[in-house]
Amino acid sequence: MTLAAYALIDSDAIKHNIQQVRMYAPKAKIMAVIKANAYGHGLLRVTESLTDVDAIAIARIDEGIRLREAGCIKRIVILEGFVCKQELDKLLRYKLEIVVHSAGQLEIIQNYQGQENISVWLKLDTGMNRLGFKAEEFLLAYQKLAVCSQVKQPISLMTHLSRADNLKSLVSSQQISMFKQQVKGFSGEKSIANSAAIIAWPDSLTDWVRPGIMLYGVSPFSARIGEELGLMPVMSLHSRLISVKNIAAGEAVGYAGSWVSKKATRLGVVAIGYGDGYPRYAQNGTPVLVNGKKVPLVGRVSMDMITVDLGLQIEASPGDLVTLWGNGLAVEEIAKYANTIPYTLLCGITQRVEIKHV
Ligand SMILES: *Cc1c(COP(=O)(O)O)cnc(C)c1O
Repeated sequence: MTLAAYALIDSDAIKHNIQQVRMYAPKAKIMAVIKANAYGHGLLRVTESLTDVDAIAIARIDEGIRLREAGCIKRIVILEGFVCKQELDKLLRYKLEIVVHSAGQLEIIQNYQGQENISVWLKLDTGMNRLGFKAEEFLLAYQKLAVCSQVKQPISLMTHLSRADNLKSLVSSQQISMFKQQVKGFSGEKSIANSAAIIAWPDSLTDWVRPGIMLYGVSPFSARIGEELGLMPVMSLHSRLISVKNIAAGEAVGYAGSWVSKKATRLGVVAIGYGDGYPRYAQNGTPVLVNGKKVPLVGRVSMDMITVDLGLQIEASPGDLVTLWGNGLAVEEIAKYANTIPYTLLCGITQRVEIKHV
């Protein structure tokens, strides 16, 4: 029996993509970013493929605890840190490293009474205006942490670029030089680059790089797909045809009848919809592979189904394999048709989709 919607995860492709990171940043240590359930690929199983990375980064404390409870002994960095003493206790109990980005966190650490050796990544805000200390607060924050006996020295240092995927913008270079200037003379390890910066901004390559999307074989740039950057897609999203039928010219298909056939054709109904994470706003014409052949999506995406125009040439019957993205059909291309970015498509896979690692 073929399942309805399922995602195949190619662990060899993950390993290949890590090698590509090493090629782009040969001297850097790799902090693999696996937040949001490893960008939808499955947190624990993806971690098993990461034997060759130096640390792991995730957004939230509970994800770190899940990894520790599953036996992960790698360095784990929590990008969003903590907001109260109880959370700090938890971070320390599970030996999770902390991004310190606010005055409130600093105060909690300064008042911390335990014997722990707290591992800290101090974050500078170089213009994203999301997390991090502003330049004028940064030195003081650094000095406070540097004299904390419960903080492991030297403190690691990081920033995050806001426009690394925009090759024309001058902002990345400014952010990189601002960071380098602020941390000049500090002996701790430094980290700037996400995937886009690893590929496009060699000046951002410091002690550590933080690849996310490229580990999954997907391009951080809207103008290029992963394959063009030497990456291999990791996730292939599949389903199957559940009905094939003839329709006459002038028939309206799906909710609101938003697509009307211009000529007699054969319609395929595929068992996948927005209830699986297939994008609701994918337009008419979004490519879908049926038995490896490209056909256009037609009509509205429903919760459990989509409809495709098979034309009169393509051999297809219920049960046949359908690919929504992955091998042979770049998720970057689907993102364009759905007016979004590939990140949201990968993270948006729902519980109903079985994730199978191969
Ligand atoms: C998500 C994230 C990354 C990885 O970004 P990609 O674009 O997926 O490579 C790196 N650093 C931080 C702070 C992040 O939040």
